Amino acid sequence: MASCGDSGSTTGGRRALVTGGAGFLGSHVCERLLDLGLDVLCLDNFLTGSPANIEHLLAHDGFAMIRTDVSAPVVVPERLDYVLHLASPASPLDYARFPVETLEAGSLGTLNMLRLAEANGARFLLASTSEAYGDPQQHPQREDYWGHVNPVGPRSTYDEAKRFAEAATMAYRRHHGVDATIMRIFNTYGPRMRPDDGRAIPSFIARALAGGPLVITGDGSQTRSMCYVDDLVDGALRLLFSTLSGPVNIGNPEEMTILELAERIRAATNPTVELSFVERPPDDPSIRRPDITLAREQLGWEPVVPLEVGLQATITSLADRLGVPVPATYEAAS
Ligand code: NAD
Repeated sequence: MASCGDSGSTTGGRRALVTGGAGFLGSHVCERLLDLGLDVLCLDNFLTGSPANIEHLLAHDGFAMIRTDVSAPVVVPERLDYVLHLASPASPLDYARFPVETLEAGSLGTLNMLRLAEANGARFLLASTSEAYGDPQQHPQREDYWGHVNPVGPRSTYDEAKRFAEAATMAYRRHHGVDATIMRIFNTYGPRMRPDDGRAIPSFIARALAGGPLVITGDGSQTRSMCYVDDLVDGALRLLFSTLSGPVNIGNPEEMTILELAERIRAATNPTVELSFVERPPDDPSIRRPDITLAREQLGWEPVVPLEVGLQATITSLADRLGVPVPATYEAAS
């Protein structure tokens, strides 16, 4: 059983546990919570995240890190006001590589964190996903849609783990009095994504920086709605500090085809690279767009960062990570 020592806290204020805090989204969440003056305990086993994502936070007095598996029992001796459960492989490549770990993070990990929240009387936030809607038959997706998910397909380890996690969250809310909420995150992008994580934006950018081609699955007519990480974190914290139970969709309703997205990344990085087309993976959703009426009305939230601005920050971050120059086309456009 893992346990964490003193966090070196100096603020004496509110304290949040962020599981998956060394990942792409988690590291931004930790950063924003520290900015707000909270103490942050980051729990991560670096399965798909990296110490580099939180290196700059280690010198912060209010920040501490515990390296452990969220799916194993964990003791946190300090009082917690908030538990944010983000730990899980999140890209299709990652959950194909770690199917059982993904199921465990969504099931055992969620139960562990709900019990911790219950013991502390803490507010609990589950990072769920638009994958709970599967390959949707309603468009755009509203929170009251139950989804169209293949329970035995290659994506089921992730989709069903998150659906279990949602059910567990509601059970602890209804029957154990935990002040719990569910956030359904739609595709999010930004700095600190891994160039090889298989998600569309970092994959296109990394290929463009390497001279191409950009690899598109199917004919590229499938749609996605891309939310910049700063907007996502803003929505997540508004939900955390609200009294809503959720689920609440947090995503950008600006929908585009994958082909359009590739064209825009090509224009911003390297207009000479070619596009190539490969077969689409099974159960890949054909359409995806959040209905964010609930977040707009109840949280006063909506995304504000335009795609071009978010892409520029992501291109710079990936170029830096890959040790290649930031493309001149982007510099000219900025
Ligand atoms: P990520 O892979 O960058 O981050 C996940 C983090 O969880 C990593 O640091 C990883 O090491 C850690 N982790 C995984 N299993 C763990 C375990 N058993 N114990 C401890 N730590 C573990 O992915 P991300 O994009 O930052 O996603 C974060 C969360 O948001 C995930 O729960 C994901 O399902 C959800 N989400 C993300 C998106 C998106 O577009 N990024 C969309 C929907 C949902």
